[in-house]
Order: sequence, then C-alpha cells, then structure tokens
Amino acid sequence: TDPLFLLAQEIVKRIEAHHYQAYIVGGAVRDALLQRQVDDIDITTSALPQEIQQIFPKVIPTGLQHGTVTVRFQQTSFEVTTFRTEGKYSDFRRPDQVQFVSDLKEDLARRDFTMNAIAIDSSFRPIDPFAGRKDIEANLIRTVGDPNQRFLEDPLRMMRAIRFQSQLGFLIDESALQAISEHRKWLSKIAVERISVEWMKTVTGSHFPRAKQSLVDTRLIDCLPVIGRNAAIQQVMEELDYSYTSIAAFVAYMELQVQTVPFSTWKREWKLSNQIKKDCEILYNSVLAYPANSLSWIIYQVEDRLLTDFQFLCQLYHQQQWSISFLQKQKERLPILTRSELAVNGKDIITLFPDKERGVWIQEMLSAVEKAVVEKQVHNNKNDIREWLQNYGFQ
Ligand code: ATP
Ligand code: MG
Repeated sequence: TDPLFLLAQEIVKRIEAHHYQAYIVGGAVRDALLQRQVDDIDITTSALPQEIQQIFPKVIPTGLQHGTVTVRFQQTSFEVTTFRTEGKYSDFRRPDQVQFVSDLKEDLARRDFTMNAIAIDSSFRPIDPFAGRKDIEANLIRTVGDPNQRFLEDPLRMMRAIRFQSQLGFLIDESALQAISEHRKWLSKIAVERISVEWMKTVTGSHFPRAKQSLVDTRLIDCLPVIGRNAAIQQVMEELDYSYTSIAAFVAYMELQVQTVPFSTWKREWKLSNQIKKDCEILYNSVLAYPANSLSWIIYQVEDRLLTDFQFLCQLYHQQQWSISFLQKQKERLPILTRSELAVNGKDIITLFPDKERGVWIQEMLSAVEKAVVEKQVHNNKNDIREWLQNYGFQ
C-alpha cells in the first residue's frame, strides 16, 4: 500500500481511539481505485475541529468556517473535515452555513459526484452508498442525486464535471449533460476565481478534446469568460484538438491563432495572476520571434519553467519537433544566462564612447552586445566586445 495511505490510516486510527469516526474520502479514494497517483488525502470525521486540535499536536486552522483543519503528521499535511451538509446556497457562492452532522452518509450525500463520494475506513473497507465504484468501473461521471438540483445548488459543479472528464476521460452521464445545458447560464453566479481553478485543470487534462466536446454540446462554452463571446476562439478550439501544457500555453496559443483579445483582458476576465499573464506574453512573443530570430536568442529569453510550454507551442505553430532535452541543452550551451553576466555594463559603454551624449543608445547598444554574445558572434570579454563594437558602426 501507498505510504501516504498508511500515514492517513494512522491518523484515522488515532481519531478512532478517541471514540470518533473517521474515514479517508474524496479524490484520494477515487484516484487510488483508478490507480492514479495520489498527492494529498482528505479525511472526514465526526470529531469537531477543536476536538481534532486536542488529538494532534500540529493542527493548522485552515478552513474553520467549513469545519476543516490541516493536520501535520510526519512532515505531511492532511485536510481533516467534520461531517457536514451544506446549508442553503442563496447567493450561489458558498453555502450560507455548514451544518455539522453525525452521520457519514449525510456527508457523502453532499458531495458532487458518485466517484467522489466513496469513503474507506481504517481497515481500507469501502463505504459506498451511491455506487461510486460501479460508476468508476463504467468510467461514468454521475452526480450524487438529481443533477438538476445539484447543479442549481452549486453551478460550479458543471465545470467540475467537465474538469473531471478532461482529467479522467470518463463520459458524463446523459441526464447530467442535459442538466448542464439547461442550467448553464447560472455559471455566471460563480466567482471567476473558482471557475479558473477548474479551467486550468481542464485545459491541461489529457482528455481535454473530449471535455471540450461536452462544453460545445451543452453550450456551457458560451458561459466562459472571453471564450463565450468570441466565435473565432471557439472556432480554433473546435478545429485544433489538443491538451495544453498550461493555462498560459492555452491563452498564448489562442492569441497566436486569432490575435484579437489583449492579454490584459484575458487576465482581467479570468482573474489570472500577473505571473500567468507575463508567461502568456513571453510565450507568444518567443513563438512569433522564430524563425526571424536565432533559436539561441529566443531560448535565452524563455525561462526554464516555460520550456515545456515553448516546445509545445513551437510544435503546434511551427511544426518544429524540438525535444525538451534538445532545448535544455541549447540553453545550457548559451555563453550567458542573464544580462548581468555580460562582461560590460552601461558604465563601460559610456567609457568606450566618451564623446557621445548620454541617451537611449546606451541601452540599445547593451542589448546589441547581449544578443551578439548570446549568438556567439563575440566572446564575452571586454576586449573582444570593444573591438566588436568598433566594427559594429558606432565610433
Ligand atoms: P483533485 O484530485 O483534483 O484534488 P478532488 O476530488 O480531491 O480532486 P477537490 O476539489 O479537492 O477535488 O475536492 C475534494 C472533495 O470535496 C471532492 O472529491 C468532493 O467529494 C468534494 N467537493 C469538492 N467540491 C465540491 C462541490 N463544489 N460540490 C460538492 N462536493 C464537492
Ligand atoms: Mg483534492
């Protein structure tokens, strides 16, 4: 058994020793049944948060209003949540209040899909009142209870159905698909940040083309920020069927194809981070810089963490089959990695041309030197650079 599950089992047993019930639940159980990698484990318990705080020495109150605490155990975090139902969702955002309950089955009943509503006890025996295992075996995403009611209660679940389809490749149950197309407009009531979280997992899922088809079939695609109002983007998504390496690669690729929506609009409407917006810009510009610019110069400007996205986009856009390891090697062979490694700086340039008045030419010349060094037209030392500059035309 996975060591992570053994640790979780120890936590469950400790809670039981204090006469409470506890179970492993949710995504970890689902992924274990699918023999997919499990990175974190959720535990559900009849104990209240303050009771958990008395059992374990290291407890962080991460979500007390939802009955959730994080237990640190052997350098590992476990989310421990008290059995609950979710009260009314009058504002569609979050339940107004959570109601603690004493029964595991009630806790499982509030969960979104049958595959996510399976618990296992301290002996790893399953408790599966909604036949989630059967649906997992049939590769089927089915809501716990009536899909109309469950999607109206929390419209984010429509996006979660699509997200799980993208990650797992399952089919979405027919009545759930129908409910999505009926209630899709309610997605507008959900905070964009929550939709974004699901969307990032959706575009990177290995079955994204299939999930995208469900988005189209139900017209839920019309309710997505930016994409919903942009026929050209929908057209691109329709014709070019891929899983994307990241959300930045997805946005950059849409813009490479349609060039209509500024990255600042993507950022604002999807509430993307500054970092993601910058990544989109770097990727977009780097892909377009090829082949007019040398690969060395382009790769110099693409940070390591974006190399996979860059490789992916060049394959789509330029049909260039560079491998990641090839690009990595190209990068390692660069004479410098940043401008600060350049053998000359602004001061040196000024000293070289004492008669010229200061101005933007200094920065321009530095950039020219930087490019020449990266492209190995000149060695990265002062003498060679001085000589190169004199031949370069500036006197
Ligand atoms: P992942 O592996 O991506 O984390 P997960 O199944 O653990 O998948 P989470 O978003 O971490 O998904 O949620 C944990 C569990 O909480 C789910 O398995 C599900 O049982 C329940 N859950 C989460 N969001 C909702 C929701 N909007 N409505 C009902 N139940 C939910
Ligand atoms: Mg999870």
